[in-house]
Formats: sequence, C-alpha cells, structure tokens
Amino acid sequence: AKAGGKATWARFEPRMRNEVVSHARLGSELHNAIIRHELYLRYQPVFDIVTGRIAGAEALVRWRHPVRGNVPPGDFIGVAERSGLIVPLGSWVLREACEQLNAWQAEYGSASIQSINVNVAARQLREAGFVDEVAAVLSDARLMPANLVLEVTESSVLDGRQVRETLQALHEMGVRLALDDFGTGQSSLSLLRAFPVDVLKLDKSFVDGICDGEDRGRLAVAAAVAQLAEYLDLYAVAEGIETAAQMEKLRTMGYRLGQGYHMAEPLLPDEMAAMMAAAARA
Ligand code: C2E
Ligand code: CA
Ligand code: CA
Ligand code: CA
Repeated sequence: AKAGGKATWARFEPRMRNEVVSHARLGSELHNAIIRHELYLRYQPVFDIVTGRIAGAEALVRWRHPVRGNVPPGDFIGVAERSGLIVPLGSWVLREACEQLNAWQAEYGSASIQSINVNVAARQLREAGFVDEVAAVLSDARLMPANLVLEVTESSVLDGRQVRETLQALHEMGVRLALDDFGTGQSSLSLLRAFPVDVLKLDKSFVDGICDGEDRGRLAVAAAVAQLAEYLDLYAVAEGIETAAQMEKLRTMGYRLGQGYHMAEPLLPDEMAAMMAAAARA
C-alpha cells in the first residue's frame, strides 16, 4: 500500500508542485506589483443606449508585469482572492477610480459622467472596516455616495450575514449596489429579496444569444431581466454588447444602459477624457 501511495505521488507531484509554486510566485509578485505601481485601471464606459451619451464607467484593473507583460485579471484576481491580497488591491482600485471620477467631473462637468462602477470581491466585504473605508474614500474624492456603484456577484452576497449587513449599510449610505453577471447564478431571483440591489447587470452570455433565432432561452432571460428591473424599479445594464443588432434588440426589450466592444472597449483615462471632451462639444 505504501509503495502504491508513493507511485501515486510520483505521478501527481510534479504537476501539483508546479501549480502551487506558480501561484505562490504570482502571489508574491502581485504583492510587489502593488508596491511598485505595476497596476493601473482601464475604464469601460456604460452608455445610455437610447441617447448614446456616457452614463458612467466600470473600472477594470490591469497588471503590467515587468517580465510577463500584461497579465489579464482572469489570471490574477482569483490568486489575489485566495491570498487575501485582494484587500489591498481592491482598496487601491476603489480609491483610484473615485479620484478619477472626481477629476473627470471637475474637468468636463458632473453631467459628462455620473458614476463609477467598482468590482468588489467577497473578501473585501468581509473586512470589518469596509463601510468606513468607502465613506472615507468618497469624502476624500468629494463624491456623493450615489456616484459610486459597487459591483458584487451572487456568490459574494450569499457569503453570510455579515456581508449582507455590510451591503445594507452601504445601501443606507446611498452607495448603489449592482448584481454582476446576473442570470448566471443558481438563485438570482430569491437574492433580490435578500439584499438591497439597485442595478442588475445582465451577463454577456445572454446578450450573445439574443440575435440567434434558434436560441429562444437566452432571449427569454434577457427580456425577463428587463421586465424584472422595470417592475422592481431597478436599473438594468446589458454587458458584452458586440454588435449593432444586439444593441438594437436590447433597446427594444427596454434596456436603457449598455456596455460592450460595439460601443467601447475598456479605455485608458486619456481615451475616456477624449470621448467626454467630444461629447461636451457636440
Ligand atoms: P466583469 O466584472 O464581468 O467585467 C467584464 C469583462 O468583460 C471585462 O473583462 C471586460 O473587458 C470584458 N468585456 C467588456 N465588453 C466586452 C465585449 O463586448 N466582449 C467581450 N468578449 N468582453 C467584453 P476583464 O477586464 O478582463 O475583467 C475580467 C473580470 O476580472 C471582471 O469581469 C471582474 O470579475 C474581474 N475584475 C476586473 N477588475 C477587477 C477589480 O478591480 N476587482 C475585482 N474584484 N475584480 C476585477
Ligand atoms: Ca463587473
Ligand atoms: Ca460582469
Ligand atoms: Ca464576469
């Protein structure tokens, strides 16, 4: 039995060790990344798809690694969540994004962009000081709580009573809460009663299906989410819009807000500024 156990290890160990080492290495490199300012933000505009105007923008973190080049968030956000580094990383994103919104509003007027969306991980919501941190960041950046939209996922909301209390406190402060990737979870509908949501973000997977005549299921979900938002007095945002046909279809379903490569990819601050300057001249 002992030899068999050893043989099993001999087979699995190299791959397992590689994985553990590379995650640990990525984790320690990420720790340095925060200190060495290798992180930066791109902003994907959220458009009013009826008027074509910019309504807000979602901050999306990027990591310019000195050797690996650009590491996509899909490769390091999970590592950051498991190691706890998401807490300082998320704090940096929150502050940076709020300061950026303040700078844009000062430059182009408060009508040029109304809100900034920041993705928040469950781990951050479990930190005892999170509500106070948000209040301090808003005050330092001279923003109103309604200028900030925190994007949370279904699994974070289901994380427990403490997280729900944190979300309740943020909502009472006037911060808006968005349920990200809406429709992909197991219990999307019952969640709407469990926490004070303001915005539903229809997941891209449903947008992908709406112009496919064969795919009635995804079309039905997209239409139902728009109706649900209307009945519950919530904002509905469609994400991952890649074609004019999708945008048009979503508009007829009642979506007022949308994001996607068809309108704009995640942009550098200068590119966002150019867009707002052009809108201000129009
Ligand atoms: P997400 O929050 O669902 O963000 C949407 C993702 O879809 C972004 O990928 C965005 O660039 C991409 N996207 C937007 N429009 C389109 C489109 O039309 N077509 C396609 N194919 N993709 C589109 P990104 O920037 O790679 O971010 C991936 C995920 O990483 C995010 O998904 C979010 O869960 C996470 N993430 C990014 N930044 C942060 C952050 O600051 N904090 C936390 N906790 N998570 C973050
Ligand atoms: Ca998001
Ligand atoms: Ca999303
Ligand atoms: Ca997603």
